[in-house]
Amino acid sequence: MNDKELVKKEENASEENTSEKSISKEDSSKKVTAWKIAALEKNRLSMDDMLSFSCDNCGECCKHQNDLIMNPYDIFRLAKRLDLTPKEWMDLYADVYIGSESRVPVVRIKMIGDEMHCPFLKNNRCTLHRFKPDVCALYPLGRAICYHDDPKEITTNEPEVVYFHSGCKCGTEQNGQTVKKWLDSFGLMEREHFFIRWTKVIREVSAFVRSLEKTMDDEEILKTIWGLIILQLYADYDIHKDFGLQFEKNFKELQEHMEKIQGIRRAYHEGELQ
Ligand code: SF4
Ligand code: SF4
Repeated sequence: MNDKELVKKEENASEENTSEKSISKEDSSKKVTAWKIAALEKNRLSMDDMLSFSCDNCGECCKHQNDLIMNPYDIFRLAKRLDLTPKEWMDLYADVYIGSESRVPVVRIKMIGDEMHCPFLKNNRCTLHRFKPDVCALYPLGRAICYHDDPKEITTNEPEVVYFHSGCKCGTEQNGQTVKKWLDSFGLMEREHFFIRWTKVIREVSAFVRSLEKTMDDEEILKTIWGLIILQLYADYDIHKDFGLQFEKNFKELQEHMEKIQGIRRAYHEGELQ
């Protein structure tokens, strides 16, 4: 397993639906979280730190990756580039699973062929260029979001975005540039505000599903709710309109659905108690 795989496995093990890590500095009850914070702090980079990296185009880090996790903005940008709807794009290039911790749908790029390579890898090069999903564009960096409270609670505190080196050794000592310049070259700084927004949204949706699962084990109802989450957060966009406005509208509608479902559950339980 190479360094990129190690990083992605770790991302997957933490908060599957944010593309990157989501952690709490005060979650001291979990040793694994404390370990992750220590590892992040050790490799943490500031915007002015120099990054030396070059790619030899061996293509290895784009094969056998089962956790190239996409956020809705990644999907929107890629769908728009191919003149597809986000749903059409997902049908062709992605699969969805339910995150073991978050309990919400996670969308990832589907590997193909005997070599299990990314469908966008041609002649060992990424054909998406500047449209790469954030998780790939960041490489060899990783990005984490730190909440200064209990990660299981929804918070209004502003989280801190942290960038760190993945530890990858590919082509080091060439093409030195600052971290900020690297991030800017892929538009990652522009999209940082969406990364923060997305982690907050997914925490809220995750809290809703996890609380629902505590009182209900009807798989069919859960499947309907997961389908609704996929539709509202990932699929229901017009690629010719502004993404951000549509995202907020879709999320508001999803919140209204969640409130209604919670109301029905409350009424059902109150009826059971009488
Ligand atoms: S970053 Fe480049 S050199 Fe490193 S594994 Fe990926 S394709 Fe190969
Ligand atoms: S999107 Fe590009 S960089 Fe990412 S895995 Fe696919 S080919 Fe590699």
